Amino acid sequence: MEQGEGETWGHFHPKIAEMMKNYHRKFEGAVLLDRVVEAAGTTLTKLPHLWRFMENGENTLCYRHVLGCCTYKKCKQIHIEGDEVRGDFAVKLCIVLTPGVSHVTETVEPYPKPPAKKQKTG
Ligand SMILES: [Zn+2]
Repeated sequence: MEQGEGETWGHFHPKIAEMMKNYHRKFEGAVLLDRVVEAAGTTLTKLPHLWRFMENGENTLCYRHVLGCCTYKKCKQIHIEGDEVRGDFAVKLCIVLTPGVSHVTETVEPYPKPPAKKQKTG
């Protein structure tokens, strides 16, 4: 059992954890939300949302945070607590995003990591 793995990536809901499992194995938490949404054939404004995070018809919830790890230091959207991600919202989100998540996992390469120190061979 690899307990703890993924917890820091905001796997708030078992459905989301399942959907994002392979994705996070590859991308290590960073969420390419635009790519995922595009690959899912939808738009950010059409994603399932939680009403209490709607302001004047605009979503204020950070989906990156829900799906994994929001890497935007100046993110102005709301990072909710895990126990607020539940019920219909998580299920609907998974239905909409699963094809996009799979597509990005299969076709997109993660950003290159900083080069590791070269080891002398020979
Ligand atoms: Zn965020």
